[in-house]
Amino acid sequence: MQQQYVQCVRDATSAPLWWTNRPCVEKEDCNVPKTADVVVVGSGYTGLVAAITLARRGRHVLVLEARQLGFGASSRNSGMLGPSFPKVGLSGLAKSYGDTLAQALMEESLDALAYTKQFIQDEGIECELAEVGRLVAALRPGDYRDLEDHAAVLQRRFGIMARMIPRTEQQSEIGSDLYHGAMLLERDSSLQPAMYHQGLVDLAGRAGVSLVQHTPVLRIVATGNMHLVTTSRGQIRSRNVVVATNGYTGSLSGYLRRRIVPISSALIATEPLPSSQMRRLMPGRRLVEEKRRVLYYYRLSPDGARLIFGGRAVRSGDGAIANSVDLYAAMVRVFPELAGVRAEYAWSGLIAYTFDMLPHLGEVAGVHYALGCCGSGIGRSTWLGRKIALKVLQDPEGRTAYDSLEFRTRPLYYGNPWFLRPVVAWQRLRDAIGV
Ligand SMILES: Cc1cc2nc3c(=O)[nH]c(=O)nc-3n(C[C@H](O)[C@H](O)[C@H](O)COP(=O)(O)OP(=O)(O)OC[C@H]3O[C@@H](n4cnc5c(N)ncnc54)[C@H](O)[C@@H]3O)c2cc1C
Repeated sequence: MQQQYVQCVRDATSAPLWWTNRPCVEKEDCNVPKTADVVVVGSGYTGLVAAITLARRGRHVLVLEARQLGFGASSRNSGMLGPSFPKVGLSGLAKSYGDTLAQALMEESLDALAYTKQFIQDEGIECELAEVGRLVAALRPGDYRDLEDHAAVLQRRFGIMARMIPRTEQQSEIGSDLYHGAMLLERDSSLQPAMYHQGLVDLAGRAGVSLVQHTPVLRIVATGNMHLVTTSRGQIRSRNVVVATNGYTGSLSGYLRRRIVPISSALIATEPLPSSQMRRLMPGRRLVEEKRRVLYYYRLSPDGARLIFGGRAVRSGDGAIANSVDLYAAMVRVFPELAGVRAEYAWSGLIAYTFDMLPHLGEVAGVHYALGCCGSGIGRSTWLGRKIALKVLQDPEGRTAYDSLEFRTRPLYYGNPWFLRPVVAWQRLRDAIGV
C-alpha cells in the first residue's frame, strides 16, 4: 500500500499550491539604505504588519528578508483562520496563570481573529476570505464528549458560536464515516495565504516601507541608543529593530534560539477532482481538523476543486516523500475513495513552537521581537505585528495579555530540537490508543 502511495505523491511539485500564478514577488532588489528608523527582520505577516503600522506613523522602515518576500510560513500555510486559542485550553491556562490572565489570553485570541478579518476588509485585501466555519472532528466517542464540554465553555464564557454535530448528522458536513461527530466553530474562515501576504506587500509599498529581499541579517549590535545591523550586503544604522523571523529564526539571536522550537509542517494538494465527488466528500465546504495530539487538518482549495491535507512533518528517511506519503495515508483513512488520486503539490514550511505553547513578544537587549505562533499564526501574527509596532512607538495600545508571560527555555536546549521525533512518536502512540 505504502508503495502505491509513493507513486501518487512522488511527482508532486514542491512549491506551494498558493504560489501558482502568484504575482511577481521577485521584485528587483533595491539598494540597501545606510540608515533607517526601524529595521524589521523577516517579511512574513508579522514583519509586514509591524512595518505598515510603523510607516503609517511616520517612521522610515526597512524590511530585510533573507530569501524572497514571504518565503516563510506566511505564503505556505493552509489558510485556516481562527482564534488560535492557546493549545493548553482555558483550564490549562488557569492552572498555570490564574483565572484572570487565562481569561485575558483567551479573549485576546478572539480579538486577534476579529481584528484580522476587519483589517482585511478595511484595507480591501483580496485573498478569498470566506467565513466557512471549522469542524473539529472526534475520533472517538470520548473525544465528542470532551468537545461538547469545550463548546459549552466557549459559549458560556466567550459567547462563541460553537455547535455540536452528532455522528448521525455528520454526513451533511463530511462524506466520511471515520468520525464520531464534530464541533463546528462557525466564525472560522478560510483564505488564500499568499494572496493575503501579497496584499500586505502592496500596503507596505504604499505606506513607504523599503522592502529588500535576498539580504539576510547576520548580526544586530546595540551601540548607545542605536543598533548596527549587519547584513550580507552591508551595514545599517537604525534606532529600533524588530525581529519577526518565527520558525526561521536560526542563529540570529542566541536568546531567541534557546526559546524557539522550529518544527516542519507539511501539506499536499490533490489533482483537481470532479465537482460531484467534492460535493460528496466535503458537502459543508468546512475547514476540518481532527481532535488529536499530532494534528491532521484539511480543506478545499478556494475553487473547490482540490483537497488540501496537512499535518506535522517529522518523518525520518526520505524526508519530503516520507512526509507526503504519511499525509496521503492519513487522507485515504478519511476518504478511502481518494486512494489512487495524484497529489500534484507537496510542500512544507517551518513553524515556531515555544515551551509554554504560547506566542511571545517583547524586547531583549533593546531589540524587539514577536514570534512563536505554534503553528496557528495567521490572526496571531497580524495581531502581534501590530502590537510590537505599537510597543516600538511606546503607544499604550501596544499592551497585551502576552506581556505577563515569562519567555522560558529549558536546560540544555540550544536550538536543536533533538527530542522532537521521540515526543511526536509518543504522541502518535497516545493518539492511536486514545489516551
Ligand atoms: C505548512 C504550514 C501550515 C500552516 N497552517 C496554518 C493555518 O492554517 N492557520 C494559521 O493560523 N497558521 C498556520 N500556519 C502558521 C502561520 O503560517 C505562521 O504562524 C505565520 O505565517 C508566521 O508568520 P511570521 O511573519 O511570524 O513568520 P514567517 O512567515 O515564517 O516569516 C519569517 C521570515 O523571516 C525570514 N528570515 C529569517 N531569518 C532571517 C534573517 N536572519 N534575515 C532576514 N530574514 C530572515 C524568513 O526567510 C521568513 O520569510 C501554518 C504554517 C505552516 C508552515
